Amino acid sequence: MELSSLLNRFSEPETLKMAKLGRELRAKGIDVIDLSLGEPDFDTPQHIKDAAIKAINDNWSHYTPVPGFLDLREAVCTKLKRDNNLTYTPEQIVVSTGAKQSLANAILALVDEGDEVVIPTPYWVTYSELVKIARGKVVEIRTSVSNKFKATPEEVAAAITPKTKVFMFSSPCNPSGAVYSKEELAALVNVFEKHPQVIILSDEIYEYINFVGKHESIAQFDSIKDRVVVINGLSKGFAMTGWRLGYTASSTPIAKAFEKLQGQFTSGTCSITQKAAVAALTGNLQPSLDMTAEFTRRRVKTLELVNAIPGFTCFAPEGAFYVFPDVSYYYGKSNGSETISNAADFSMYLLNNAHVSSVMGDAFGEPKCVRFSFANSMENIEKAWGRIAEALKKLS
Ligand code: PLP
Repeated sequence: MELSSLLNRFSEPETLKMAKLGRELRAKGIDVIDLSLGEPDFDTPQHIKDAAIKAINDNWSHYTPVPGFLDLREAVCTKLKRDNNLTYTPEQIVVSTGAKQSLANAILALVDEGDEVVIPTPYWVTYSELVKIARGKVVEIRTSVSNKFKATPEEVAAAITPKTKVFMFSSPCNPSGAVYSKEELAALVNVFEKHPQVIILSDEIYEYINFVGKHESIAQFDSIKDRVVVINGLSKGFAMTGWRLGYTASSTPIAKAFEKLQGQFTSGTCSITQKAAVAALTGNLQPSLDMTAEFTRRRVKTLELVNAIPGFTCFAPEGAFYVFPDVSYYYGKSNGSETISNAADFSMYLLNNAHVSSVMGDAFGEPKCVRFSFANSMENIEKAWGRIAEALKKLS
């Protein structure tokens, strides 16, 4: 049997691979602590679950409009006004089965063969792979701990060519935790104003998990708003990863293109999830704020433990729930039987010797770093970092 060549153009997400390896060890009875996965370890807030149960009992069991129920798209507009002071109308909103699908809609609708897509590193694993699926060309801007993992206007200007179609980034960033301030975004906007062919994909899925202050969206700048696609969803801020709901806010022609694509791939997302999403987006935000307060405490503890490890250089994340230390100090070191040559070896060494799963930075375009989540209990965080410290002491 010959499968399509498309499958050879992209890889499976490293994050999911590591989680799978961890599960396999766990099935053998080994106590593996999972710091690889990117999802809140909290339950979905009660008022959202109640809305879903009501939707089932009210028989919301039919196909939905492809871009989502009108009341949900109105709720998204209300949220965007309330939280971000952004004005959109329901025809500019397309609800999908997750921010991942929204990103796929965007790349497939915007990128043709040979088009360049500029992405600052480190970036979420799926970005580059979607571009490869569309036969586009990924153009990386290398950022590092020393510039707080943010692309400067000069770097963005240098990366843009006449072939550039899209610039995509997340703020707060997965994996680095970088959060762009309003001033930093304004400086990037100055560059985009000079390149009217560039569409900006702004992934704001970690919006609520912000440790430095107010979330700023690049869509707030009127000079480029028509060229910005805001991508967001419920997975992270409302602990709803399994419910599968994301959305985009964009100009109407772009929204129509997303709707056309989605109409052939998935249709509208789950009707029950959509009804629950109205409750999430318009209801009490306190449970989300409480989750962020807990992530704030875990971030402090994680940084204390990470900074005590010799050789690590770690940026204090401004948002999201990961640390992304530079671990390259350990490259070339060995415990006698295993030698660490790169981030993949480092992650595997920790999985096998500390029974802690993590994700190698190569998956995010940064081979010197490894990503560790702090979306785990305080007890597990302390246990995991204790084991990591012990395992690393054996390397010389
Ligand atoms: N964007 C970023 C930066 C993410 O980290 C993730 C999930 O890990 C997603 C998008 C996808 O989220 P969803 O669950 O809504 O598909």
